[in-house]
Amino acid sequence: VIELGTPEHAVVTTCAYCGVGCSFRAEMKGDQVVRMVPHKDGKANHGHSCVKGRFAFGYATHKDRITKPMIRKSIKDHWQEVSWEEAIGYAASELKRIQAKYGRDSIGGITSSRCTNEETYLVQKLIRAGFGNNNVDTCARVCHSPTGYGLKQTFGESSGTQNFDSVMKSDVVMVIGANPTDGHPVFGSQMKKRLRQGAKLIVIDPREIDLVKSPHVKASHHLKLRPGTNVALINALAHVVVTEGLVNEEFVDARCDHESFNKWRHFIADERHAPEAAEAVTGVPAGEIRAAARLYASAGNAAIYYGLGVTEHSQGSTTVIGIANLAMATGNLGREGVGVNPLRGQNNVQGSCDMGSFPHEFPGYRHVSDDATRKLFEQNWGVPLQDEPGLRIPNMFDAASDGSFKGLYVEGEDIAQSDPDIQHVHHALESMECIIVQDLFLNETAKFAHVFLPGSSFLEKNGTFTNAERRISPVRKVMAPLAGYEDWQITQMLANAMDYPMNYSHPSEIMDEIARLTPTFTGVSYDKIEHLGSVQWPCNEDAPEGTPTMHEHQFMRDNGKGLFMLTEYIATQERTTRMFPLILTTGRILSQYNVGAQTRRTGNVAWHAEDRLEIHPHDAEDRGLKNGDWVGVKSRSGETVLRALITDRVQPGVVYTTFHFPESGANVITTDNSDWATNCPEYKVTAVQATKVGQT
Ligand code: SF4
Repeated sequence: VIELGTPEHAVVTTCAYCGVGCSFRAEMKGDQVVRMVPHKDGKANHGHSCVKGRFAFGYATHKDRITKPMIRKSIKDHWQEVSWEEAIGYAASELKRIQAKYGRDSIGGITSSRCTNEETYLVQKLIRAGFGNNNVDTCARVCHSPTGYGLKQTFGESSGTQNFDSVMKSDVVMVIGANPTDGHPVFGSQMKKRLRQGAKLIVIDPREIDLVKSPHVKASHHLKLRPGTNVALINALAHVVVTEGLVNEEFVDARCDHESFNKWRHFIADERHAPEAAEAVTGVPAGEIRAAARLYASAGNAAIYYGLGVTEHSQGSTTVIGIANLAMATGNLGREGVGVNPLRGQNNVQGSCDMGSFPHEFPGYRHVSDDATRKLFEQNWGVPLQDEPGLRIPNMFDAASDGSFKGLYVEGEDIAQSDPDIQHVHHALESMECIIVQDLFLNETAKFAHVFLPGSSFLEKNGTFTNAERRISPVRKVMAPLAGYEDWQITQMLANAMDYPMNYSHPSEIMDEIARLTPTFTGVSYDKIEHLGSVQWPCNEDAPEGTPTMHEHQFMRDNGKGLFMLTEYIATQERTTRMFPLILTTGRILSQYNVGAQTRRTGNVAWHAEDRLEIHPHDAEDRGLKNGDWVGVKSRSGETVLRALITDRVQPGVVYTTFHFPESGANVITTDNSDWATNCPEYKVTAVQATKVGQT
C-alpha cells in the first residue's frame, strides 16, 4: 500500500474497475486520497480487495489527466484549450450542423460501462430525446451483449441469477470461459474458499487457468476445448443429461414452458449432440464430457459462472442460451448455491445495460417498439421518440465508412483501441466530421476527435455502479472534479446546448427518475442505498429490500415460465489454414485492467509491463522460438509483435495474449466476425501465424 500521510477522514465508495464492485474506504488527508482500504461492511467484498482497487486512486491525479476542454477544426490541427462554454457550444453547433445537412440519424453516441448509472441514463436520454434517434450503444456491445440477449430470451431478465455469497452453498462449480482469480480476484478468492471446503470444480476453457491446478484447489475436470466450439460442448453436456435420465422433471414441469422443453429434449437427444460426436469437434474426450455432465447434473447445488470466453464468439448468444437450457433442465435455478452467473468485466456493465444503453431498449430492457413503454417515456421526457432501433457500434462504423454517419459523442470508451478490426474502426472515425470525446486522458479515440471534454474520475463524482450480482452501490465524491464538472453535468450542458433542456441538480434526482420509469427499480433511492449500504435489483414493492436470488418462484417472462431454445452448433467462419495455422485467444492478467488506461497510470504498473504471447512448447520448437523472443503475429486483418512466453498452459495449435497495452494492439489482428444476435465481436478466435522476428 502506498501511504502518502496520516488520514484525517474517510469516504466509503465503490471500486471502478471490475464487476465485483468492492466497497472501499477512501482515506483522506485534506482533499487528497492517501490510501484505499477495503471496507469490511462491503456486501460484495466483505473487507477484501485486489491490488488494482488499492492502487486505483493513482490514476485520478496522474499528470496525463486533461483538465481543460479543447477543440480543433481538423484532426490534423493542434488542440486549442477553450472555455467550457466554447467547447460545449462548438460541439452542439457541429452536431446540429451535421443533422441539418445529413439528417437526424447522422449522429449518435456511445456510453461506457465505466460510467455511473446516472451518467449512462443521461447519455441515452440525450440521444433519444435530444438527438431524436436511437443511435446509442455501450461498450457492453463488445463484451456481454450476448448475455443480455440470451438470458432475456430464456429467463426473461438480462442479468445473473445469484449474489456472490451464493457460491458458498454450491456443491459443484462450473467455470466456463472465465478466469476469476485474474479477472474478478475478490470473487475468485471466495470461490476458492468454497472449493477448499470440498465443492467440486469443472473448468471449461482452452487454456489452463489458475483454478485448474493451484496449491489448494484442483479441478475435477478440465475440458480443454478448441476455441470456438463452446456450443458443441454445452450441447454434449445437455445430451448426457437428457439421455441418461438426469433431467429434473419436477422443476421442468413446474417452472418451464412445456412445449419448448419437449422440442428441446427431442433436439438435444439426437446423436449428433452425443459426446462422441462432440469429441471430434471440441477435442475433449467423450468420457470427460460424460463425467462432467454427470457431476454437474447430480449435485445438490450446481452453479455456472462464465465470462467473455462464452460471449465473445460468433455463437456467443447461442452459448448463453445453451447454458440457460442446461441449468433449467437440471433444476439449478431459483435458490442459493445454483444459477447462471455472468462475471461482468467492467464495474458497471450490468448497470449500463440496465440504463437503456442499447439502441433497441429503453431502461429496464423494454423494446423501443413497445407502444406503452415509449408513450411513458414520451410523457416524461416531453418529446416524441423513435420506435425503430438505432445503430449498434459496428453499424455506426459501417455507416460512417459509407458517408451517412458523421457525428459521434463518446463518453468513457476508447473505441479506437478496444474494438475489433481496428483498421476499419480508424477509417470510420476518420470519415466523421465531428467526434466529441469525454474522458480522463487523451486516449486513442481522442486522436480522431474534434472536441475533448475532460471528464471526472470515480473519486470526483456522486452516483451508483451496479455490479455483476445486480448490486447497486454508492459512488461518492471524495474530491472536487479536476476539470470543474462531474460527467453527468457535462452531458446535461451538452443537452441544453442541443436545445433539449435538462436541469438536474444532483444525481439522486436522476435516480429518482430512473426509479419512476423502471419497474425493477421502483424501490431504489439514494436514501435506501444510504440506509442499506447497497441494494440488489429487482427492488420494488414486491422486494423492498432487493433480490439476492432471481427466479425463486417464477421466471421473469410474461407467463412466468423458463423458455428452452434450440442451440445448433455452427462452426466459426474463422478457419486455420497453412498460412494461419494457430488460433489466437485473449484474456486478462490480475494487475492490469482492460486497455490499461487507468492501471498503467497507477503504482502497480511495474508488475507486468507488456502483453505476451503464450505458445505451447511444440509450436515454439517448430518456430525456433525461445522464451522472451519477439514474435510477429499475423492474421488476415493485420499483424503485431509480442514477446514469447512458452508454456503448456495453452494447448498445441492455440496461442494466447492479453489486451492491456496499446503498443501490442491485439485488436490490430482480431477479425470482424461477430455474434449473430448482438454483433458482439469474436475476439476469442483469430487464425494467426507466429514467426520469430527476423525470420520469414
Ligand atoms: Fe474488487 Fe474488482 Fe476492484 Fe479488485 S478490481 S478491488 S476485485 S472491484
